[in-house]
Amino acid sequence: MHEMPIATDIVERAVEAAEQHGATRIEQIEVHIGLMRQVVPEALELAFTLASEGTMAHGAKLSISQVKAVASCNVCGCRFEPEVEISFACPRCSQADVRIVAGNDIILTSVTCQADEEASLS
Ligand SMILES: [Zn+2]
Repeated sequence: MHEMPIATDIVERAVEAAEQHGATRIEQIEVHIGLMRQVVPEALELAFTLASEGTMAHGAKLSISQVKAVASCNVCGCRFEPEVEISFACPRCSQADVRIVAGNDIILTSVTCQADEEASLS
């Protein structure tokens, strides 16, 4: 399951962001994942549940949005959406000399957290 390291990374980044805001519990995490990562959302949700065990992210809702991949042809400069797993060849000049310019990232777009109200009373 290659989603596990991604889930661990998401948990670490979310917890770090929440700690910076003095939060004690994370309610929701929104993440944008490039299609190049070939992440299966259901598998990532399961991995997230396991990875968040024992952290303040446990029980948080994980909202996953997938971002289209974009490739750029090094030969003719054409930009296109590559068919992941099928072909990375440029649709205009048929060269396979392309680079991926989008769709390879995992971005935390939002972390919703809750501060511990009792802690602020003292
Ligand atoms: Zn081309």
